[in-house]
Amino acid sequence: MIPLRKNIALMAGYVPGFQPKDEKAWIKLNTNENPYPPSPKVIEAILAEVGEGLRKYPDPASQAGREEAARLYGFDPEWLIMANGSDELLNNLIRAFAGEGEEIAYVHPSYSYYSTLAEIQGARVHTFRLTQDWRLADFPECYQGKLFFLTNPNAPLGFTYPLDFIEELAGRVEGMLVVDEAYADFADENALELVRKYQNVIVTRTFSKSYSLAGMRLGLAVARPEVIAALDKIRDHYNLDRLAQAAAVAALRDQDYFRECVRKIRETREWFSGELRVLDYGVIPSSGNYVFASPPDRDGKRVYDALYQRRILVRYFSDPTLAHGLRITIGTREEMEKLVAALAEIG
Ligand SMILES: *Cc1c(COP(=O)(O)O)cnc(C)c1O
Repeated sequence: MIPLRKNIALMAGYVPGFQPKDEKAWIKLNTNENPYPPSPKVIEAILAEVGEGLRKYPDPASQAGREEAARLYGFDPEWLIMANGSDELLNNLIRAFAGEGEEIAYVHPSYSYYSTLAEIQGARVHTFRLTQDWRLADFPECYQGKLFFLTNPNAPLGFTYPLDFIEELAGRVEGMLVVDEAYADFADENALELVRKYQNVIVTRTFSKSYSLAGMRLGLAVARPEVIAALDKIRDHYNLDRLAQAAAVAALRDQDYFRECVRKIRETREWFSGELRVLDYGVIPSSGNYVFASPPDRDGKRVYDALYQRRILVRYFSDPTLAHGLRITIGTREEMEKLVAALAEIG
């Protein structure tokens, strides 16, 4: 027996969505990747960075990225931090705020990786259930845990909590309220203004979905300078490599390209949701780049398997609160037309 910490020995580890080897043979709608390529300016910036300069360490602060993001969102750069995927931020937030035996919480269903990260840290985890109208069941007047993660838009369900509800939560959370806005670029609203207004609100974003850069591992957080300073102490000092830093700046600068991709995905999402309703699917109106939908017999696994046979990958969760449906990433219009045809055939 190797002398592992007990919590590490006991934990199962997170299982990411399936990435098939023969990618080209599949229509891949299972991990909320963007169907469009990154901006050509991003590719150009990465290629310009490839060369002898790679022998040198990158800028430890990723300052150019912070400044570009700060400009875009209307904050001072001290309110921004760049990360090696937003997963790095979630991890470091737990390390910064929740010690061993202290509590963090999140909503079930939402992003279960918070739970894995807390287990590594030895923190306790509480989950709040959703009510029928997408609010939190039994949320106390004052939640005393160290961190509360609110995924908004909710993943995998796709609905959003209204801003005034999030604002109310900020007042009821004694610790930090982390609004995980991985999908906010596809929604109508976001919580950035609450970061300015409340000391305990942190917003995290990722480049993986709306900026088509899941493969680069890029995320950022907006929070008070004291919070950012704490996150800066904890992170790997060279957390972003040179290529990632170049990609981040170029992606943030090319807002025209970004807006056009987001527009197409939102348009396809609305069209696809309508088609699902024609097929008698139950569809939750989505603000993300995915839709959660249930077939008429509420057997998510049956439809998952039938799609798998046809080389179409979607996400099925065996969790009893989710097994009645599927989370389907919005691909190109052409991919979604093929999916609709397959679903009509499967019945
Ligand atoms: C994709 C996703 C993340 C992780 O983003 P990365 O930047 O790829 O690490 C975080 N939270 C939610 C809710 C996500 O869906």
